[in-house]
Amino acid sequence: MMFTLWSKYRGEPDSKAWSEDYNQLVDDPRAWCLETLETFNATLRHGEQPREFVRVEIKANDVPLRHQWHKTNLVTIMKGRDNYDTYRCELCGITAKRYGVGDIVPDKKKDFYKSCVGTR
Ligand SMILES: [Zn+2]
Repeated sequence: MMFTLWSKYRGEPDSKAWSEDYNQLVDDPRAWCLETLETFNATLRHGEQPREFVRVEIKANDVPLRHQWHKTNLVTIMKGRDNYDTYRCELCGITAKRYGVGDIVPDKKKDFYKSCVGTR
């Protein structure tokens, strides 16, 4: 999940807050930010000022994007005893095959468990 943490020095007005972008695998960014600031405040070094949480803005939630498969062959391809259709994702461009009525499986093993990265 991508989110932006807005924080400020303790006792300052919210208008003095500044932002930091994070990309963390967390369920609750707010809890993560509070905990991070708590740890920061608990381990202050000389010259550092305690910080206060202001707000968190979620930039991208982690709902995986699904590949938009588009069939690229007109007629089912027959090869020996196999027959399959070829697909290409309209968003990220990876290619895949579907044997018979099975699932659409990416051609490259590294893409098996990855969700779509979208258009780049
Ligand atoms: Zn895709």
